[in-house]
Amino acid sequence: MINLLDLDTAGLARFFAEQGEKPFRAKQVAHWLHQRLEGDIAAMSDLAKPTRARLAEAANIVGPTVLRDTTAADGTRKWLLDVGNGNAVETVYIPEDDRGTLCISSQAGCALDCAFCSTGKQGFNRNLTVAEIVGQLWHANRALLADGVNAPWIEHGRAPVSATGRPERELLPLGGTARSAKRAPITNVVMMGMGEPLANFDHVVSALSLFLDDDAYGLSRRRVTLSTSGIVPAIDRLRDACPVALAVSLHAGNDALRDRLVPINRKYPIAELLAACLRYLERAPRDFITFEYVMLDGVNDQPAHAHELVELTRDVPCKFNLIPFNPFPGTEFTTSPRARIVAFQRILMNAGKVTTIRKTRGDDIAAACGQLAGQVADRTKRRSRLPRVVAAPVSH
Ligand code: SAH
Ligand code: SF4
Repeated sequence: MINLLDLDTAGLARFFAEQGEKPFRAKQVAHWLHQRLEGDIAAMSDLAKPTRARLAEAANIVGPTVLRDTTAADGTRKWLLDVGNGNAVETVYIPEDDRGTLCISSQAGCALDCAFCSTGKQGFNRNLTVAEIVGQLWHANRALLADGVNAPWIEHGRAPVSATGRPERELLPLGGTARSAKRAPITNVVMMGMGEPLANFDHVVSALSLFLDDDAYGLSRRRVTLSTSGIVPAIDRLRDACPVALAVSLHAGNDALRDRLVPINRKYPIAELLAACLRYLERAPRDFITFEYVMLDGVNDQPAHAHELVELTRDVPCKFNLIPFNPFPGTEFTTSPRARIVAFQRILMNAGKVTTIRKTRGDDIAAACGQLAGQVADRTKRRSRLPRVVAAPVSH
């Protein structure tokens, strides 16, 4: 049995060819799956009944199993998804006036063991399948629409606007007549949940291709961001295979400190990483790289560190996103005080680097992911039927 969510549009085309079906069936089914968000082959009404019956013998549609679904006062919504063997991953919806962003996981756990990351601390479990990655977007759009959530830019009476301020074409019109007035609530995707997306390269690229494909989700490349800790050869491969917007987890401006915080730096040091960033920019949909920088009290948050970053990135078109550290049980780090984060931001801004400080979202459901995962993990100890949860790194 093939899970149709496991196939990108090229895979669907191959699958239908193998079944002896006409090539246009692949497009038709992609529209049903990813635009009408259908979960039942029998409901694909423009396929003849015998075709549907044959399809249902060879394939099914299996979305994620939701273990927990929590919405915060600010509208941030988090789903905890079962990935088998007692593991779970998280996906988080973040509504804003002009966009709805979904933060997607790519692996259960992570092998890269960054010092400040709770996912890393719990080790690597396995790569997510294409269906498990795409299924996060499929499921979140379905769940939000079922609850009457429309595209945020419609609800706020705004036209979707591109990064350049120009009006953008409408995003993802949903097929069908009854729901045609609706627009999918999720307009942006960030691969910033659990796991290192470039360590699950093939599945992630297939999923990205579906996010971008006009026969599937049809998002523009600028609305899809992949965050990596800096696996240099894979950054080059991504540039060639599917150049989406790139965020790089820098976290330190010198190799000695980055070696300690982001161990993959021992293999691909900062100079090589920055060279890969410049190569990536030749094909990137945005003309800058976003550097993420977690603010760790007394570790990487001094004025000298900010000046070091300015020197380091003098020739790299980039923006900085400062992330207040999201603490988790057992960590040796604490969050930098707000005043120090603001002072750090000011140094970068004065040097001409656009620098944002990540907002913490969904506080009341601990959407700062490590915290929720921590809570579930605690319960796991008490109630063994609950799955072990790998904590997500991102705080929104
Ligand atoms: N593996 C990828 C993507 C997932 S992590 C990467 O490392 O880029 C997404 C972001 O959250 C990264 O910038 C990561 O460094 C950061 N992060 C991890 N743990 C964190 C924590 N406890 N507090 C704040 N940010 C964290
Ligand atoms: Fe993996 Fe990213 Fe966490 Fe590092 S920060 S351990 S790369 S998920």
